[in-house]
Amino acid sequence: MRIVALAGGIGGARFLRGLKDVVGPDDEITVIGNTGDDIHLFGLKVCPDLDTVMYTLGGGIHEEQGWGRAGETFAVKEELVAYGVGPSWFGLGDKDFATHIVRTQMLGAGYPLSAVTEALCDRWQPGVRLLPMSDDRVETHVRITEEGRTRAVHFQEYWVKLHAAVDAEAIIPVGADTAKPAPGVLEAIAAADVILFPPSNPVVSIGTVLAVPGIREAVVAAAAPVVGLSPIVGGAPVRGMADKVLAAVGVEASAAAVARHYGAELLDGWLVDEVDADAVESVAAAGIACRAVPLLMTDPAATAAMARTALELAEQVRR
Ligand code: GDP
Ligand code: CA
Repeated sequence: MRIVALAGGIGGARFLRGLKDVVGPDDEITVIGNTGDDIHLFGLKVCPDLDTVMYTLGGGIHEEQGWGRAGETFAVKEELVAYGVGPSWFGLGDKDFATHIVRTQMLGAGYPLSAVTEALCDRWQPGVRLLPMSDDRVETHVRITEEGRTRAVHFQEYWVKLHAAVDAEAIIPVGADTAKPAPGVLEAIAAADVILFPPSNPVVSIGTVLAVPGIREAVVAAAAPVVGLSPIVGGAPVRGMADKVLAAVGVEASAAAVARHYGAELLDGWLVDEVDADAVESVAAAGIACRAVPLLMTDPAATAAMARTALELAEQVRR
């Protein structure tokens, strides 16, 4: 079976680990990763979501934190601070720096991001084919107003530095409108037997992937059933501040509202948590088959069960 999953960082990566646990040796998983979170720091190209997927599936992730490397040290960052060179709000450890140096060096030599990602994955062996959504530069910006002054900040500045404490007024995936899907992306979607939307951020992760012209259209046109899992449980994101960016696009932070936001055009099936069982009827009324099941990725077994249920729902809605 050929499975395609769109993914952001932590929610996507953890779900994919569960998915890997339930598929057979002949199944192939292609991950289309969000690159709208990418940022240039200290002259280096940093791809937080691709790296979170790569480190998580490759066994190098800092488990509790959910991003960055396990057993990390911060000597380089401390030296940069000593020089007064920032930003200091973005956590880059010494081991992580090496990844960004290799990536930047390869990009400088002319390799596209998709080839660079493949090369990095040669080391990590994530067990999936990890494709960036695009080789073209896309950077999500967030419009905010502070003390009467409106400006756009990079998504990382909004999320990591400002902790999304200011309201997001608009989410702008800069560059997305002219970006092309990376090689293999449209082909993987068209050839998929199942397409999954993990419990990733619907706006700045999956929404950004879908904003690359051609990708949404390919998912809509795909023969494969499309099943998503809600990142919103009991009216709040399980982790992070997804409610802030949902509000910016006029979507309530509820499992049902996120399903309606994707819509029946994209989704054939949707999983909500058991605490959101009352959402099942309204999601079904929107033309999306819906089940309420445990959706907390508390341990590998719980996460694997979520993946298994998503694949079962895909079979039930297959036309
Ligand atoms: P990011 O790029 O690191 O923000 O990661 P993603 O976009 O892939 O995922 C973030 C989303 O994952 C957040 O909106 C969380 O609510 C969601 N999430 C994290 N852990 C869980 C979980 O255990 N269950 C569910 N249903 N969602 C989760
Ligand atoms: Ca992200």
